[in-house]
Amino acid sequence: MTCLLLLFTLHLFSIIAGQSIVACKSVIIQDQVFVIVAQLFGGSHIYKFDEDQSKFSKFQDIEVSRISKPNDIEAFQIGNDWFFIIADSSKAGLSTLYKWNDKGFYSYQSLHEWFRDTDAEFVDLDGKAHIILASRSQVPVIYQWSRSAQKFNLHGEIPNMEDVVAVKAFRIKEELYLAMTRYIGDSKILHWTAKDFSEVQALPSRGSMILQPFFFKDRYYLALGSDYTFSQIYLWDAETKIFERFKEVYIQAPRSFTVVSTDRRDFIFASSFKGSTQIFEHIIIDLSL
Ligand code: CA
Repeated sequence: MTCLLLLFTLHLFSIIAGQSIVACKSVIIQDQVFVIVAQLFGGSHIYKFDEDQSKFSKFQDIEVSRISKPNDIEAFQIGNDWFFIIADSSKAGLSTLYKWNDKGFYSYQSLHEWFRDTDAEFVDLDGKAHIILASRSQVPVIYQWSRSAQKFNLHGEIPNMEDVVAVKAFRIKEELYLAMTRYIGDSKILHWTAKDFSEVQALPSRGSMILQPFFFKDRYYLALGSDYTFSQIYLWDAETKIFERFKEVYIQAPRSFTVVSTDRRDFIFASSFKGSTQIFEHIIIDLSL
């Protein structure tokens, strides 16, 4: 597998080759472009874009002595400080927070031990920085950033949500929602109201590794992947405030759905664990006479 990065503003295309890459995230810090790459084997690294050579060069090895099976990276900013987190899905693993110190990223805080974390999501809840960590062996937990301690503290959990494989936060007209993917049972949509997440919708899942929210202008969609059958695309109904079934698409073992828009056309890229990446175009058909 390779880590692809498209920089549309520079019309530039570069490939970072790696071994068993499980996650890659880009960040721009002080006008410099970095790509953080987590690998199952061969360690995890940070690449920096070298403008003279027009390519990415290795910038830093990530100190991963306590990470054995990385599953996800999220990069984010709190105030002026840059961080990224690696979620560790091994039994003896330790999800770890890294902080930028002008020379590189160094490990800053260990978050979560022995829970086989699957996914991390950074989310702003009422103006405060939070991380939601999903795990194989417990319900998702919420960490809140403490300004005084400059650390994340365990803040709460999301009950009745065992074995979540992915969590994504999204907004529909200022309202905050979470999409929780589960491989078996139901994937869930939760709504943030008055200091709590409450369930608003359950979506039957069969071998789902991804429930991805995306939107084109004012049309809000959800793509629910399936490893066994058709993936389902849902469309948000603004009246009922739930997602309705919209379309079925077949993708072999889908792992991500990513929107790519040009000035005229909208696409969604569906990556596959077993087959080819498929690209769908979002088209509005005018049926008026
Ligand atoms: Ca994530």
